Amino acid sequence: MATIGSVTRQIAALEISGPASRAPGTTSSIIRPTHTKQASQPNVAKLLTKFAAPNPHQSQINLANLPPPPSSRSEATQPAIDIGRYDGGLEIENEKRGDVVSGDAAADLALDSSLSRTYPTQEWSLHMFDMGRPLGKGKFGRVYMVRTKTAPNYILALKTLYKSELVKNKVEKQTRREIEIQQNLRHPNIVRLYGFFHDAKRIFLMIEYAGKGELYKHLSKLGSFSEKRSARYIDQMADALVYLHGKHVIHRDIKPENLLLGLNGELKIADFGWSVHAPGLRRMTLCGTLDYLPPEMVEGKEHNEKVDYWALGVLTYEFMIGAPPFEDRGSVNNTYRRIAKVDLKFPATLSADAKDLISKLLQYEPRDRLPLTEVLRHPWIVKYRPKGTVRDGSV
Ligand code: ATP
Ligand code: MG
Repeated sequence: MATIGSVTRQIAALEISGPASRAPGTTSSIIRPTHTKQASQPNVAKLLTKFAAPNPHQSQINLANLPPPPSSRSEATQPAIDIGRYDGGLEIENEKRGDVVSGDAAADLALDSSLSRTYPTQEWSLHMFDMGRPLGKGKFGRVYMVRTKTAPNYILALKTLYKSELVKNKVEKQTRREIEIQQNLRHPNIVRLYGFFHDAKRIFLMIEYAGKGELYKHLSKLGSFSEKRSARYIDQMADALVYLHGKHVIHRDIKPENLLLGLNGELKIADFGWSVHAPGLRRMTLCGTLDYLPPEMVEGKEHNEKVDYWALGVLTYEFMIGAPPFEDRGSVNNTYRRIAKVDLKFPATLSADAKDLISKLLQYEPRDRLPLTEVLRHPWIVKYRPKGTVRDGSV
């Protein structure tokens, strides 16, 4: 993240940099100061929001329509947003990591959004981006903050996936399918996938930049969230899940580690597209991430979108208590047992409304769980919803 000093300079530079590239329908905007005031942290978010690729509800704006890159780069059109220092990590990693894949796997992984049947984009390649700071390391490759060289110079996260490692983990088909699903999703609380391309060894995913990073880190730092903050996150989660389920997509791996925060602190569901976090019971057992599994998955039964209702209940609990409700650090078997019995205990500190919502989501029978449209109308959610937010369960 830029320092306050550098952002002050950037704001000054922006005053002469022309109209905003902000998407229609978004509520944030650059506030021009009417009095002299030092740039504050929220201004940083607003400034960056202006250049982060937009993610409006229903927009034709996607990176498909950017003009082709200019033959010579015009510095004058470059916004002065600090994307941080590139550490050369992609090249270093590419020397050491991954092999060229061949055969069917190579065909499965020749992923290029310009060839998409539903939303074809322009052709992308690595040289069309200015590389910025590293954002993190994923299982299959690094993630960087980048900016498109072409105007309007969108800021994005670029995630690499090493093809040979996808093959080694037997997730090449799943990765392909899920990237395609992900590219069709457009919701403000779902991290948007704008496009993808590949080279001999890697796939590159152009992802919406989530400026405040992993929600999990914020939760770990604070221990727990206030009821107000939790309710606002759950409201956004429920809205995103209504949208996903309407598209017949079940997330099945909702947990704080898979949630990011946008520049203005808004929640963004991530990590369901291309991840290997697909719901096999086997993986859950091996990796020990049982805490969010519903009884029907623990018991190896069939499951449907109501697994996400359960996980939403677990998430609500973990936000406010700081640990998931059926956790037993000493014994995996005990966690299984507690989930299957719905052995739910509340600390006295929780409000009656919060307890009510959690208990209605953590129901053994999937059909008894509170529908998401009811979650959006629940008193605990409504009470903390910012004025003017419309949630009618539609998109
Ligand atoms: P893991 O299993 O460790 O979560 P992964 O393969 O799922 O790895 P990601 O979680 O997608 O990889 O990415 C690794 C890290 O990069 C994240 O933890 C996060 O810090 C950062 N990151 C990923 N996507 C974005 C994004 N869109 N905006 C900002 N940071 C991101
Ligand atoms: Mg992840």
